[in-house]
Amino acid sequence: MTEATNCCVLLIEDEPGDASLVRQYLRASPNLRFELIWRENLADGEQTIAQQKIDVVLVDLSLPDSRGLDTVRRIRKATRVLPIIVLTGHDDTEFSLKALDCGAQDYLIKTGIDTDSLVRAIRYAMSRISLERRLYESEQRMGMALQSANLGLWDWHIPSGKIIFNDLWASMLGYTLDDIGADIDIWKRLVHPDDWQVIHASLDPHLRGETELYSSEHRLRHKLGHWVWVHDTGRVLEWDMQGQAIRAVGIHQDISLRKASELRDHLLVSALETVEHGVLITDINAGIEWANKAFETLTGYSRDEAIGMRPNELLKSGEQTPAFYQNLWDTILSGNTWRGEVVNRRKNGELYDEELVITPVKDLQGCIRHFVGVKQDVSIRKRTETELWELATTDGLTGFLNRRHFMTRLEEEFARVQRNQHRVAVLMLDLDHFKQINDNYGHPTGDAMLQHFANIIRTELRKIDVVGRLGGEEFAIFLPDTEAEPAVVFAERLRKLLADTPMIIDGHTISITVSIGIATMHTDSGTADCVLTKADKALYTAKEHGRNRVRVWL
Ligand code: GH3
Ligand code: MG
Ligand code: MG
Repeated sequence: MTEATNCCVLLIEDEPGDASLVRQYLRASPNLRFELIWRENLADGEQTIAQQKIDVVLVDLSLPDSRGLDTVRRIRKATRVLPIIVLTGHDDTEFSLKALDCGAQDYLIKTGIDTDSLVRAIRYAMSRISLERRLYESEQRMGMALQSANLGLWDWHIPSGKIIFNDLWASMLGYTLDDIGADIDIWKRLVHPDDWQVIHASLDPHLRGETELYSSEHRLRHKLGHWVWVHDTGRVLEWDMQGQAIRAVGIHQDISLRKASELRDHLLVSALETVEHGVLITDINAGIEWANKAFETLTGYSRDEAIGMRPNELLKSGEQTPAFYQNLWDTILSGNTWRGEVVNRRKNGELYDEELVITPVKDLQGCIRHFVGVKQDVSIRKRTETELWELATTDGLTGFLNRRHFMTRLEEEFARVQRNQHRVAVLMLDLDHFKQINDNYGHPTGDAMLQHFANIIRTELRKIDVVGRLGGEEFAIFLPDTEAEPAVVFAERLRKLLADTPMIIDGHTISITVSIGIATMHTDSGTADCVLTKADKALYTAKEHGRNRVRVWL
């Protein structure tokens, strides 16, 4: 309000004499020009407030249609922004202060009014209402901010234990402000007994001035009996001369949802930690985000080493083909689970067999965001399987196939012959007068002779040739893609080599020879068994013709 401005005063006064006096005082104002609107009852006054632009209200409390403080309350209800000055007929400080509580900015005792005091009161009331308005607006803004952030507010006067909460503080816990009251004890009663330690750990040093901030996560009891997790933060704003905290202000926030999800995460992680299988979670690019303890044990890599790396970078053994990995990626990127066996390499370089299941994990929109891999070390099982297989298929003394498995292989080869129409030479071999070795030198020496013969056979074999020990000192060999003629050459070389290579054992030099029968397998050979029988017959002929020789079944 500048000096030249008109100031519009609404006077609500039923005494014409008093009204006239006020008019005179205002007219006498040297600097400020006042425009006076006079109303004789409150109803008219209220109407004027609603219709006209008024700067200040002067009101007598005893009106025909309203008396006492109610008058102030009604005007305040009609307008939040107008300054109100109460005119009273008597000097009653107690009553006047109550008028201020009800929303008036000032009061004047009619008998003591003059131009000066009236103008000063008007100016003061106008500036005061503007201050109050700013304060009110700021409080509104603050309230809105707290409301939208879902924050409870507390303002604690420490020496008296008085505390002021906002609505949200109370409603978060199911209470109204009236239920809660204004004493710190209510808060103390609501805190979970197990959480005091956490609160004290932060609050006590802060109240001693040792920390910048008090901050604690604890539980408060809801009116309905359950616990509400809150994050409570505050700061001491006032200290006394002795350094004692006087006033602290803070906010608290309901974090029950976050706590519940933290609890669930903790539960899931604990569960994954207890499983025996290695579990890892990767991002869409296979970068490891999490791994369990069993993963560390299985691979030898710590989680710190693993996180951020790709499983391939850590574990690749080179045993799988690029096509193998291509199939794996195609499967999981199309949203399906991949299962398979992989040979991987541990940190110490050791290869191991792993049974691996990889499952893609989609987000709520259906996009693949993660992969979960579950790994099981199956090396021991694989080794046992291999050992059992060897036990079931090979002869322990010589390492050649046993009779049953040799026959299986021969039948498979026969099926191949039917398809490819190649020839296969089948040899039957029997050591000559082997019984005499046993008789002369004992059974173990006989065994050693069988191994001696086996070693000689090995030196002559190609990779594709297959040998079986059919029993005793009787062996069979099949040579794929071999006609009778080269088979004879092979058999002769073998026969001669054995005859020329005696076994030296325990100071004895023991020679032995072998008789060999040959038959060839072709598309119309009948069965694998038939071919073997023919070779056996040729062997019999070789024996008959004096042993240490090769015969072909014709
Ligand atoms: P031939 O020239 O007619 O084949 O005479 P042979 O003595 O080799 O034939 P025979 O069938 O009469 O004897 C085979 C012997 O092989 C009989 C058996 O005691 C011996 N024998 C069979 N299996 C084993 C074995 O695993 N170890 C040893 N040391 N001897 C075996
Ligand atoms: Mg024999
Ligand atoms: Mg024999």
